[in-house]
Amino acid sequence: MKCRICKREARVALKSHNTAFCETCFLEFFSRQVSRAIESQGLMTHDDRVLVALSGGKDSLALMHELARQGYHVTGLHLDLGIGKSSRLAREAVEDFCHKEHLSLLVKDLASEHLAIPGVKEALRRPICSACGSIKRYYFNKVAMDEGFTVLATGHNLDDEVARLFSNTLRWDTCYLGQQGPRLEAEDGFVRKVKPLWRLTEYETANYAFLCNIQTHYAPCPFSSGASFSVLKSLMQRLEFLMPGRKIDFYQGFLKRGRPVFASLEAQRTTLHACAQCGYPTSADELCQVCRIREQVAKKRTNKA
Ligand code: SF4
Ligand SMILES: [Zn+2]
Ligand SMILES: [Zn+2]
Repeated sequence: MKCRICKREARVALKSHNTAFCETCFLEFFSRQVSRAIESQGLMTHDDRVLVALSGGKDSLALMHELARQGYHVTGLHLDLGIGKSSRLAREAVEDFCHKEHLSLLVKDLASEHLAIPGVKEALRRPICSACGSIKRYYFNKVAMDEGFTVLATGHNLDDEVARLFSNTLRWDTCYLGQQGPRLEAEDGFVRKVKPLWRLTEYETANYAFLCNIQTHYAPCPFSSGASFSVLKSLMQRLEFLMPGRKIDFYQGFLKRGRPVFASLEAQRTTLHACAQCGYPTSADELCQVCRIREQVAKKRTNKA
């Protein structure tokens, strides 16, 4: 197969775009998609101070690489979750990448906050992934606010977004449907959150990371059940195989016509106030979710002593 642009040997075939590219033209295509994603949704400008959440996986490292290449002011943030070998390898991948690319990096160690994930898992009765998600969101936002960043960027790609949209739709979760999208506005106590890879699939990001020689980390989290999202993703993959281009149409259609409706429904419903312990904005009565988790972890430690 030949590259659509320069007619050299193609290295990446993209069925949903009905095309194929050589290495150089694919990297240009990837850059253009990121620029379009940023400009069409007004995600950020070159004046923003951008904090990029780095897990050590291909998406977040590819995002940091591309934003730096496009001249954005980026700093990485890695949360060390304290999950044995998996966290050690993730942290190493992020540190090696930032060192090699001469990019600034902040690392927040959850063990020093008494919130290493294995300890949280032991103290809580509910599924660990939802608590882990809350803790991650809390620290990404907190570090961004404390350090004066204007934007927090995450590596969610089109497949992540479509699977989430599908999941929210299956449950008709109007609250999440009103908020989902590549840009979540800054408001009191919350930094603006953006997803510049929303136009690119997992396959495209993996190819970018491979062609740019980005070393990512593969050790899966031992607590991952991996169940529900992978089912939704494989259903959407099947749909895309049968009807190329359907994923991006579904997502863009939602952004244009679905989200505004759900957002207006939800606009009046949530009132936030400051957490009595840490001051973080929360809709809970007194303590925010993370302070409540911290209390439960401390209680478990006292009971054990
Ligand atoms: S799989 Fe592991 S890292 Fe991911 S949310 Fe669950 S506990 Fe956290
Ligand atoms: Zn080419
Ligand atoms: Zn709190």
